Amino acid sequence: MRWAEACVVAALACACAAPAAGAAVHEVPILTYHRVGSSPGFARQVAALERRGYRAVTLGRVWQAWRGGAGLPRRPVVLTFDDGYLSQYRTAARTLRARGWPGVLNLQVDRLGAAGGLTRAQVRRLISDGWELDSHTLTHPDLTEVGRERLVRELIGSREAIAREFGVTTNFFCFPYGHYDAAVKAAVRRAGYLAATTTRRGLASPDGDRFALPRISVSARTKPAALLRRLR
Ligand SMILES: [Zn+2]
Repeated sequence: MRWAEACVVAALACACAAPAAGAAVHEVPILTYHRVGSSPGFARQVAALERRGYRAVTLGRVWQAWRGGAGLPRRPVVLTFDDGYLSQYRTAARTLRARGWPGVLNLQVDRLGAAGGLTRAQVRRLISDGWELDSHTLTHPDLTEVGRERLVRELIGSREAIAREFGVTTNFFCFPYGHYDAAVKAAVRRAGYLAATTTRRGLASPDGDRFALPRISVSARTKPAALLRRLR
């Protein structure tokens, strides 16, 4: 089924079932985190999300639901972690693990094993916790500034490296610095990714450009009440 058809089917299903609730379910907030630090800020945000009825899911699960597969929790949220920092393992993963919530790691491959980055063992533990691994290139260049050969290497090489290291398939891509243009998006599509996330602010919707999914940026200092307001 093509993307447009999937949207039509999803819209029809909603119209028949529960229009009021259905409309909200298809728009999903995707949160963007970088370094999480060691303060209790992140744990407070997650506790507030849980109290408000949110449940974390992976982008893959959202994708399946958008294509007419298994449904989502009533209030789904995707927590993405960019680049691959140690605090994402030490702070974020511990907090999420306690709830059985998955995260999404947008891994910059050359950060693996680097100072301040994640070790291979830590990434394997994230995967066993249910985390999804998405590609954030090999070396984090601005893809609108690199030549064609480098562009292809960053897109396909990162996918291959993650498959080789961890035995998982990466279906989603995250643009470094949120920078992209039509040529970069076309290359992401040709490299076999299903969708891509950006730094554009908003809720992700199956009706939008799947190679420019918006996200909502959050830092450990963001107050829980402010975070909840951003999700509306
Ligand atoms: Zn990044």
